[in-house]
Amino acid sequence: MLTDNYNRVINYLRISITDRCNLRCRYCVNENLQFKPHDEILTYEELIRFVRLCANLGFKKVRLTGGEPLIRKRIPYLIEEINKLNGIDDIALTTNGVFLGEKIYELKQAGLKRVNISLDTLKKERYEYITGVDAIDNVFVGIEKSIEEGLQPIKINTVIIKGFNDDEIIDFTSIAIKWGIHVRFIEFMPFGDPELWGPSKIVRSKEIEDIIRTHFDLEPSINEHKGPAKMFRLKGSDGLIGFISPMSTHICSECNRIRLTSDGKIMPCLFSDVEFDVKRLLRGNAPDEEIMTFVKEAVKEKPHRKYELGQIKKCQRSLRNIGG
Ligand code: SAM
Repeated sequence: MLTDNYNRVINYLRISITDRCNLRCRYCVNENLQFKPHDEILTYEELIRFVRLCANLGFKKVRLTGGEPLIRKRIPYLIEEINKLNGIDDIALTTNGVFLGEKIYELKQAGLKRVNISLDTLKKERYEYITGVDAIDNVFVGIEKSIEEGLQPIKINTVIIKGFNDDEIIDFTSIAIKWGIHVRFIEFMPFGDPELWGPSKIVRSKEIEDIIRTHFDLEPSINEHKGPAKMFRLKGSDGLIGFISPMSTHICSECNRIRLTSDGKIMPCLFSDVEFDVKRLLRGNAPDEEIMTFVKEAVKEKPHRKYELGQIKKCQRSLRNIGG
């Protein structure tokens, strides 16, 4: 079991398998869109080795994200290989869902257990405005097919942004009931251009919860996958809603994760620009022990708490780049 300097057990690895994405979400793209050359992106063989070494250190859970993970070729192969590794008992995917419908069968066959789908609006025009692409119907198909394939639980992640979708909170709660899935409301983090996507866009979880309580009865529920979401069951249904509150609650005490960027940097903390270049070791034929020691050192660099509430500074990388 790997612990950091503050006795948090670190057993969750989030991997951005590509920095490329088929969408251009306005609040996510905070830099000149320049993709890394392909040869800078970790190969599947490098990723599998890295996950194996992390599993040796006690990591149990892996999430594949991006960029958009489903635009990388042969992702079922990667899932299958990670699934074979001793110690990894949970493999999940975070996707925008556009290609999910066409890929869900082979993903499940490869051993995918769970999927998180990012969706910030249920309205076609708004979807096109925020993502730059007319693809909301594909996302709905992806959700339906994931339900049909029996992936459990299916989680929709919705970033609530003032003036954009804060009038859809009840609609999103209703689909949790209708589809018997989890909808998690995530506080917008102002990583981007302060003029356009700054702190004035934040809607705090408490405000969202108050709006929902005017229409629905909420019963506290445990978060079976640990993590920072505060979960509630919608009374009389299978649907759950949750709140992830990086801007109004110190979620750092619950942190159990490190991130690996697509270009092979370990990021001990989402809110810090500190990175550890593990690609250098992976490509330099470093022995397993050296890489494992390097991971332990990165984990020891996890800060206790990196930011003051409501005051996230601009990160060098966007979430697309870090792996949201
Ligand atoms: N393409 C995949 C997807 O859409 O889920 C994975 C990458 S995306 C960067 C992961 C998540 O980060 C999405 O749910 C997105 O809404 C979220 N995200 C990006 N920028 C954010 C921000 N500034 N504040 C809160 N969430 C953000």
